[in-house]
Order: sequence, then structure tokens, then C-alpha cells
Amino acid sequence: MKGMLVIVSGPSGSGKGTVVKRLVGKNYALSVSVTTRLPRAGEIDGRDYFFRTPREFAYMRDHNELLEHAVYVNYFYGTPRKYVEEQISDGKAVVLEIEVNGALQIREKFPEAVLIFLMPPTMEELYHRLILRNTENMEVLEDRFKRAHEEIKLIPRYDYLVINDVVQNAVTRINKIVDAESLRPARNANIINAFKEQSKC
Ligand code: 5GP
Repeated sequence: MKGMLVIVSGPSGSGKGTVVKRLVGKNYALSVSVTTRLPRAGEIDGRDYFFRTPREFAYMRDHNELLEHAVYVNYFYGTPRKYVEEQISDGKAVVLEIEVNGALQIREKFPEAVLIFLMPPTMEELYHRLILRNTENMEVLEDRFKRAHEEIKLIPRYDYLVINDVVQNAVTRINKIVDAESLRPARNANIINAFKEQSKC
């Protein structure tokens, strides 16, 4: 089976990082993005992100090394192309945890990608989680809240909306989506062709 591109988006504070980390296992590969933002305490280059200078980022973008890229609250973010393409041809489900503009670029290039939007049960809960996380100063927090308002307008462009009430529930829902998507005839042309061959006998 050819692999699947699974896009998980959601506003800052939706818990997508935690959910996505729990997904990664035998059948999933998690793409590590490139960004020009500075590492937060505890973040490691190559594990959480590839932290790069704006000049290095521009080089990658201009040499077609990124599958998609976008600006998010003053910094650049992008998905390295090579890793994703390798994993897909290996039959894996590759998870991209990316913001909405990048997700829509992926949809243009790969109409068969599965787009999942993750949200806490209420906007109030979103604010609460982002403030409690305490990773940003007040100015950045406000920019991220504003951005959240823009992002939720694009939920109808996604295939699925998953409510992240309890992390494990959200993980289970995403696993079910990926399982169901993997059963679509369009993703199983090789099996269908085998049936056709067998029916000739
Ligand atoms: P953060 O700075 O909180 O790690 O990420 C900010 C936003 O950028 C999040 O919405 C995250 O999903 C998004 N993001 C992370 N990597 C990428 C990427 O490679 N491409 C795009 N378009 N967005 C990304």
C-alpha cells in the first residue's frame, strides 16, 4: 500500500503536539519541520524542529527542499520534502503537524491527503491551556489568540474535526480515521488489481 499523508492542524494550545507524539509508532512516521523561531526550553534541534536561520530557510525553500511552507506569527515554518516522500513510498502514514496555510498547500498538491483539525471542547479551554502552558510572553500569546480566530474559520476546509477533550480519546479518534481512510478503494488499487487478475482464471 502507498502511504498516507495525515495533516493535523489546530490552534496553539489545542494540544496537537501531545496528541501527535502519542500517535507515532510502527505505522506512523512524524515529519520534523524546519523553523526560524528560536528553540523553547527543552526543545532539541532535529527532534522537535530543525532550527535554522532565515537565510538557511530561504535556501531550502528556493531549492525546492520543502513540501510546503508558511509564516506563523513572524517566523517561517516548513516541511522537508525528502523524508516525507521516502516514508510515503515505504507505505507509512506520515503525520504533519502544521498550520492551516501549509495544510491547504498540501491539499492542493496531494488531494488524497487526510486533513484533521484538532480543537479543545471550547474557546475558553483553548485560552486556558495556552496560558497555562506558559511558553510565550503576553505579546506572543495575544498574536497566537488572534491567529486562532483566523484558523477556526478554515475548519470547514478540513476532512475531520477531532475534539481533544482527553488526549487518549483524541488519539483513538485519529487512529480510527486513519484506519478507515486506509480502506478506501482508491488507496488499495493493488488489491483491486489482484482481484481482477484472479478473476481471469
Ligand atoms: P510552534 O511555534 O508552537 O511550535 O508552532 C507554531 C505553528 O506552526 C503551529 O500551528 C504548528 O503546527 C505550525 N507548524 C509547525 N511546523 C510547521 C510546518 O512545517 N509547516 C507549517 N505550515 N506549519 C508548521
